[in-house]
Parts: sequence; C-alpha cells; structure tokens
Amino acid sequence: MTPVNVAATRVGTRALGPGLRSVVWVQGCPFTCRGCMSPDWIPDHPARLVAPGDLAAELLADQRVTGLTLSGGEPMAQADALADTVELARSRRDVSVLCFTGHRLERLRDHPPHPGVPRLLALVDVLVDGLYVAAHNTGRGLRGSANQRVHRLTGRARDETHDYENGARSAEIALDGPEALLVGVPPAGLLEAFDTAVTTVRNRIAHADPGREP
Ligand code: SF4
Repeated sequence: MTPVNVAATRVGTRALGPGLRSVVWVQGCPFTCRGCMSPDWIPDHPARLVAPGDLAAELLADQRVTGLTLSGGEPMAQADALADTVELARSRRDVSVLCFTGHRLERLRDHPPHPGVPRLLALVDVLVDGLYVAAHNTGRGLRGSANQRVHRLTGRARDETHDYENGARSAEIALDGPEALLVGVPPAGLLEAFDTAVTTVRNRIAHADPGREP
C-alpha cells in the first residue's frame, strides 16, 4: 500500500467535527488560496510517510474517538492511501468520516483528479468542498468561507444535527514539545494571535539560549 504523506495528526479533538475525532492533515496541495491557514502544508514534498495500517492505528489510539477528519493540504491528492487508511480504521471501529477538499464535488465525481478519488468519496460521510476565499470568511461554521459547500453524502451524515454551515467555531492549541498546532477552523483574529504568540515564544527561547534553534 502507498503510504500517506502526513503533515500532522491530532488524536482526540472536538474542534473539527461532531463528537471526539482524530484528524490527519496531509502534506501537499495543488491550490494556493490567499490566506490559507496552513501554507507550510502546500508544498508537495515528503513529510512523514506513514503506512495506512499504522496511520489507522495511530488515529484510533484513543478508544473514545468516533470519527476521522481528513484535511490538509489536499486529501484528494492522496485519495488511494487515505481510502486504505479509512477502510483499515473501519475494520476496527465504525468511525464517521469528514473530509475537506479544495475541489468541487462535481469535479471529483465527473473527472476524478487523482487515483482513488471515487473509492475515498464512497467512504466519506460529510464533504466540505471548494477553495478558501478570505472575503467570504464569515467567522461561522466548520468551513473556512461561505462559498464552500457542505455535502452530507450518507444516511449517517443526514441523521446528525451538527451545524456545519453556521455553528460557532472553536479551536484548540495542541502543544508537542516546542511545536504548537492550531486545531479547528479559527474564529476571527485567532490565527493572527496564534502566529504572534508562537513567534514571541520562539524569540524568547532563542534569546534565553542563543545556541538553540528557534
Ligand atoms: S485548498 Fe486548503 S490547504 Fe490548499 S491552499 Fe486552499 S486553503 Fe490551503
């Protein structure tokens, strides 16, 4: 199986979809949306290459997790490997799947841009599609901007009551040693405040120990 090129993971969050979920952000995106909140994950270079079985085990490490969120980067660019991951995860636990993509659903269905897209689409419960447009960022909902659409593709998704379009946003800051990860679709102003805080802390560390990499 092809490994997933992983930019980051977060096991157990309530900031990216209903219930307690695990998130995988993939490395590499063919788009260049102005104001993208994860520009470091746009370049298509090897980051952490993880076999689908290992990634599924990592994402399910918390027994309370009931859903997976696929984000990036562009998940559809690694559709085959992510479909393997989801299938292996579901062989162990019946998790729901939420996926963000810059592609429109019609394009994915009619002209799949990557191998494995139909297989991954068939596994996704909720798809948030379309490019991020900063001018349409309303500060509400589990989508970066209001031009992005929420598709409930399965009966499970249609049964749930989560307000993807207009619900209040939340975000979590996950710390792993010197690394800080912002999890969620950030409310207005939070991304800038987060970046400023990270830069300030790194500068203080560098000032306290000039020999250390910031
Ligand atoms: S599709 Fe998403 S990850 Fe890619 S550039 Fe746009 S906002 Fe960033």
